[in-house]
Amino acid sequence: MNEITMKARAKINIALDIIGKRTDGYHEIRTIMQTVDLHDKITLKQTDNDKITLITNSNKIPSDSSNLAYKAAEYIKKNYSFKNGLEIKIEKNIPVAAGLAGGSTDCAAVLLGVRKLFNISLSDKKLLEIASSMGADVAYCLTGGTCLAEGIGEKISKIHPFSKMFVVIAKPDIDVSTEWVYKNFDLSVVEKSPDIEKMKIDIEKNNINGICGNLCNVLETVTIREYPIIDDIKRTMLEFGASGALMSGSGPSVFGLYTQKEDCVNTVSCINERFKNVECHITFISNF
Ligand code: ATP
Repeated sequence: MNEITMKARAKINIALDIIGKRTDGYHEIRTIMQTVDLHDKITLKQTDNDKITLITNSNKIPSDSSNLAYKAAEYIKKNYSFKNGLEIKIEKNIPVAAGLAGGSTDCAAVLLGVRKLFNISLSDKKLLEIASSMGADVAYCLTGGTCLAEGIGEKISKIHPFSKMFVVIAKPDIDVSTEWVYKNFDLSVVEKSPDIEKMKIDIEKNNINGICGNLCNVLETVTIREYPIIDDIKRTMLEFGASGALMSGSGPSVFGLYTQKEDCVNTVSCINERFKNVECHITFISNF
């Protein structure tokens, strides 16, 4: 084997709560994350030289050593000295800087792919440790499926898999910095926090109404105040048959959960009519 192709899937946050701030400035969170099928295609190829190179169809992500996928390969090469060079090809489909963990999922895919391609003896536990050191969402992306993430997002526990639903993801053309969102978060203006324990039970019981009635992301208080289009998109999704709609991560992406694919198609048509430059994807919940 000298080439491997993998799906690096995006995530959405079904619930996101902030429970405190650490002395190092990072926020302690509790969030339920879920993988969706929307993915980047990552191809890893062994080359004859000794270099790592990266090519991508996207002009929105770096193609040098600052790319998280490159960093993953570089780390493994340095610490586990695989022979030969590596070409990383990223076909980007996940909207960038969107609250969908696009960079983290590419990073996790490269960690898994390089281990396989070069037959490196590295335990799952060690790989998870490496993932945690590369970014808060990388450990989750390595695990995938339905998970509760705690700490700064690095403490991952698998929970009962979420039921299969259709998902519309809509990303308005606005730049939202994750750092800015967390900096401007003010607990005193939060009127509703997610009931994570109830959400876990509803997921276990496959209680769609319970789940969709309880969708909650406290970071909406920051991002929607600045960018009301996020709320307008949520309303459009609900108007066109979504069982629930929420902003993902720090935004600006919004997702809607649906039981009928036809409602997804109608939602996307309406979003394209009502709003300018909103990138839409129809996908589904993926538990591999
Ligand atoms: P998260 O949900 O984990 O906060 P995000 O979806 O908000 O992540 P990303 O798509 O990961 O954001 O992009 C964040 C930044 O990371 C961007 O500025 C982007 O240029 C950079 N980046 C580096 N490598 C990648 C990559 N492989 N894919 C996407 N972004 C990358």
